[in-house]
Amino acid sequence: MAQEDTFKKIVSHCKEYGFVFPSSDIYDGLAAVYDYGQNGVELKNNIKQYWWQSMVLLHSNIVGIDSSIFMHPTIWKASGHVDAFNDPLIDNRDSKKRYRADVLIEDQLGKYEEKMDKEIAKAAKKFGDSFDEAQFRATNPRVLEYQRKYDELHARFANAMETSNLEELKQIILDEGIVDPISGTKNWTDVRQFNLMFSTEMGASADSSSTIYLRPETAQGIFVNFLNVQKTGRMKLPFGIAQIGKAFRNEIVARQFVFRMREFEQMEMQFFCQPGTEMEWFNYWKQYRLAWHQALGMGNENYRYHDHEKLAHYANAATDIEFRMPFGFKEVEGIHSRTDFDLSQHEKYSGRQIKYFDPERNENYTPYVVETSIGVDRMFLSVMCHSYIEEQLENGSSRIVLSLPEPLAPVKCAVLPLVNKDGLPEKAQEIVDDLKFHFNTTIEAKDSIGKRYRRQDAIGTPFCVTVDGDTLTDNTVTLRYRDSMKQERVPIAKLREIIEDRVSITSLLKKLDVKE
Ligand code: ATP
Repeated sequence: MAQEDTFKKIVSHCKEYGFVFPSSDIYDGLAAVYDYGQNGVELKNNIKQYWWQSMVLLHSNIVGIDSSIFMHPTIWKASGHVDAFNDPLIDNRDSKKRYRADVLIEDQLGKYEEKMDKEIAKAAKKFGDSFDEAQFRATNPRVLEYQRKYDELHARFANAMETSNLEELKQIILDEGIVDPISGTKNWTDVRQFNLMFSTEMGASADSSSTIYLRPETAQGIFVNFLNVQKTGRMKLPFGIAQIGKAFRNEIVARQFVFRMREFEQMEMQFFCQPGTEMEWFNYWKQYRLAWHQALGMGNENYRYHDHEKLAHYANAATDIEFRMPFGFKEVEGIHSRTDFDLSQHEKYSGRQIKYFDPERNENYTPYVVETSIGVDRMFLSVMCHSYIEEQLENGSSRIVLSLPEPLAPVKCAVLPLVNKDGLPEKAQEIVDDLKFHFNTTIEAKDSIGKRYRRQDAIGTPFCVTVDGDTLTDNTVTLRYRDSMKQERVPIAKLREIIEDRVSITSLLKKLDVKE
């Protein structure tokens, strides 16, 4: 099945089974804004809980905050967002569609990569076990030619982005012969800068000093609370502040479902450390965050780091953790070493001294910062994409199963009375009333048992418990496992023990190796 078709199916599955709805659905939606439904919110909350606990619970030197979305407008001047949080925008005159010039060029780079991959896959098939990819890359004329074009374009693009050279970006698009995917033409306008922050007015007066912004990232709420937390929490370096919250960006092109939204949620942690130790911490967080992803068991081969060669002027190291989505490897999380840029800027703009007094060194200095920043919605999407499976069964039928990591599943256990009479629903309810204190448990009595299994498979419920006539006499039930569909007879008294261990967030946390 083409990857694009799979993605479309995942989007409609999300709607059909109460995971994600278009916002304002009965008014035909609002572009790039989505609502999470009854199952989506559970999955999302589990992701947030896993993140929060892995950061705040497992690290005694990390604490959390919850800062407001509205902040003093000067914060966004100090952070550089007012002047530089821009995307280069270009329109196609024929389709009247708007694009990000940098994304058009990145897609073109992706095409060269795809061409190389195709040549390599072809050769690997032809030569079998004796295939040496490194040698093939170094000698095959076609691959070398694509690599040369890729390198040339990459260097030109990086230079144009770094110097904000908008004419050059347009020239690259023309020189590469990039056409609008809709109109197929090269009838492009000039490239312009577009600021991604949403603004609004605060209070009744409409002068420009009352203009405030919806935060485009949660990080600044942490920086401006650095002193508050450090002093009231008597925090010693190194320490971190974590936060989960909404962020808003007026994205020019909002594509790919919840991958790029205008209102989304971030989980960010700023780790404050002594200058000179930041690379050690950068490497620690780089590894820890990847381990966090990998503990979910979604295949280590589906993750990769993408180290940034071109860094923002204030950063001295940066990497993305990318996940293999149906539309290619894409950034899910960023890890950045930001030096003392943010705290120094806020010191300059606020006129307050923002320093740390180090009792061991007996001096004041501005801490350095390593941040980890992950989008809840992108994480949600990666989990959905990986878990959605259309399976052909041995008996010739098929099923759709959401093979979610068990601790993230919205419902952990569904209790199903075989028939909706003869005391079975009451017995099933008794089991639910016991298990519901420990994990999310539901009861479903309508339809045939086969249909109910399919419905639970489709929302990713890892365990189904069937209550039948024998249950009433011997207090045993049939336990069915989602992925293997295996069934076994177990005593009701054992259910909690069997299920709880596998579905708890703790089971994930135990896989993480924490440096304290
Ligand atoms: P991109 O290059 O894809 O626009 P970014 O590099 O601007 O992303 P950051 O500013 O580093 O992203 O934000 C950190 C994280 O927040 C990203 O890794 C991503 O998971 C998430 N994120 C950023 N923008 C969006 C968005 N518009 N919709 C959903 N998630 C987002």
